[in-house]
Amino acid sequence: MKKVLVIEDNEDNMCLITFILHKNGYETVWAENGKKGLELAIKENPEFIILDIQLPDISGFEVLALIRQSEKHHIVPIIAMTSYAMSGDREKLLRAGCTGYIEKPIDPETVMGEIQRIVGEHRENINR
Ligand code: MN
Repeated sequence: MKKVLVIEDNEDNMCLITFILHKNGYETVWAENGKKGLELAIKENPEFIILDIQLPDISGFEVLALIRQSEKHHIVPIIAMTSYAMSGDREKLLRAGCTGYIEKPIDPETVMGEIQRIVGEHRENINR
């Protein structure tokens, strides 16, 4: 089963995204803060990562940069979760190495399609 790492400190959001991923046949591992997220990103070798930006310890930006620094052989898709109020951060996120982003609040009807589109486009780009 394909494994997804969810880095999110808000339990309601984590439960919702986890529920949707499970329903679509993914296995999940959860990190409730940035440091644990970084550790699991390296240890668990996930298919892709869902990353909240506002975390209790280090920011999602920092997690993003540290994961990118740690990678040697492949580039894991990292999908940031941003709220509408943070739309100014999106350019910054993409420059920092994030693959794409989804909006909070999560829309259960459309989020899986968005994730699959981001991951699919990422695969096309690296195979080019
Ligand atoms: Mn948060």
